[in-house]
Amino acid sequence: MTSQPTPFVIGIDGPSGSGKSSVSRAVATQLGAGYLDTGAMYRALTWWCCHTEIDLGNAAAITRAAVELPLDIGDDPSAPTVVVDGTDVAEAIRTSEVSSLVSTVATVPEVRVEMQRRQRELIEQIAARHGSCVAEGRDVTTVIAPDAQVRILLTASEEARLRRRSLEVHGATDEAAIDATRDQVVRRDRDDSTVSQFTEAADGVSVVDTSDLDFEGSVAAVMALVDAARRR
Ligand code: C5P
Repeated sequence: MTSQPTPFVIGIDGPSGSGKSSVSRAVATQLGAGYLDTGAMYRALTWWCCHTEIDLGNAAAITRAAVELPLDIGDDPSAPTVVVDGTDVAEAIRTSEVSSLVSTVATVPEVRVEMQRRQRELIEQIAARHGSCVAEGRDVTTVIAPDAQVRILLTASEEARLRRRSLEVHGATDEAAIDATRDQVVRRDRDDSTVSQFTEAADGVSVVDTSDLDFEGSVAAVMALVDAARRR
């Protein structure tokens, strides 16, 4: 009997604006791996709560929504799809409204238990399907997949992260645009870090600081860690 190859999991965590989504997708594409954006799942749940008019002050109602969420998330890094109850929400989950509300949903402890259960299951399925999976988020390296073969914390200075997100959301990096982005970066990370550890690397997690790296440099730094792990 031949034994099954061990699925290879790469976990990438980081704060908002660290570049983890674009870098994770590029790394997954280069490796021919499947991809999971755990943040998109919290965003989809937030969109669903708003869509079904759930009171975001009611933790029990949000938890029920998390359990019932009819989510279908794609694993293709070049075209990640997010569908909720038959509606394509890939764009809707990136609006400023969802970005400003998502931490309220994601910091409910019972919601996290359910989302983490789903995420573990998805990582296992995706890795089995593609041989490897790149999963990104805030607690992949510490809680969801602490046994992943590669665990990376992608960081960048607050200034660099604000600049990147401002360019992405407002198409500019002047003072007004940076100020308008602050809530989505600084406040959101502060709220999120009350339930996940992603500002400092946990034991065994490698740090990649992208403050002075361009996109290609960031991808190369992550790929170097992946290659080193594959050689071991
Ligand atoms: O990565 P992204 O900014 O899209 O994540 C959206 C939100 O989802 C985060 O601000 C955080 O509240 C939540 N999140 C989380 N745990 C993860 C991934 C995301 O709490 N593993």
